[in-house]
Amino acid sequence: MRPFPVVLSAPSGVGKTTIARELMARRSDVGYSVSCTTRAPRSTETNSADYHFISDDEFIARTARGEFAEWAMVHGKRYGTLRSEVQRVLDAGQHVLMDIDVQGARQFVLSFPESVLVFVLPPSVEALVDRLRSRNTETDAQLAERLRNAHAELQEFGRYKYVLVNDNLDAAVETVSAIIDAESVKQDRVHALDEQVSQLIARLDEQIAQYNAISAAGT
Ligand code: ADP
Ligand code: 5GP
Repeated sequence: MRPFPVVLSAPSGVGKTTIARELMARRSDVGYSVSCTTRAPRSTETNSADYHFISDDEFIARTARGEFAEWAMVHGKRYGTLRSEVQRVLDAGQHVLMDIDVQGARQFVLSFPESVLVFVLPPSVEALVDRLRSRNTETDAQLAERLRNAHAELQEFGRYKYVLVNDNLDAAVETVSAIIDAESVKQDRVHALDEQVSQLIARLDEQIAQYNAISAAGT
């Protein structure tokens, strides 16, 4: 089976990053595509592990060089997925987990149509606001902008094949994991299926011939 990209989208604060981290801790067959962004790092974030934090000029230069599989302006900053990151993870034989916004997801599937799109909903608006506030990473003005953007983002859920609610974290992680398992055995993802089944049939024919001979000898 060929590994494939798994795109997680949700309004800010729903828990995409938390789900992605937990999934990576549980599964060795999943890798993370580290995006580029022009926003400032949070105190908890590390360059090149959480994001490649780059300047606007560098982002624009990389865009011109065609380095991004998709990019978008989100909450007033640039965010983009490097083609090289996606390829690095796929080449390592891992599914590529991506935390990208709804505009980016729309672009990304054009280059990677085999992607699995998962939209994550908050259990309630109150929970969403609580999570954003308790993360303590945005000013009130930034928080208000993220909530305003959530309005439009929520309306995009229809473009996603899977939609889940991140109420209980453990259950949400297990659901994404189950989606990956189910998608892995889709017929069109299983490598050389014709050949595998032909070999089984050839071996089956040998066994049938053998048992026919045994039963004929016994009569
Ligand atoms: P996103 O990446 O979608 O912006 P984060 O992963 O940063 O969101 O999560 C926002 C906050 O919500 C974090 O403080 C995180 O610990 C918390 N969180 C995530 N999932 C849950 C959950 N299921 N229940 C309660 N808190 C959660
Ligand atoms: P944050 O600033 O909270 O880390 O992310 C803000 C938003 O940017 C989230 O909706 C997240 O999914 C999105 N995002 C993160 N990386 C990328 C990316 O590479 N491309 C796009 N289009 N969006 C991204």
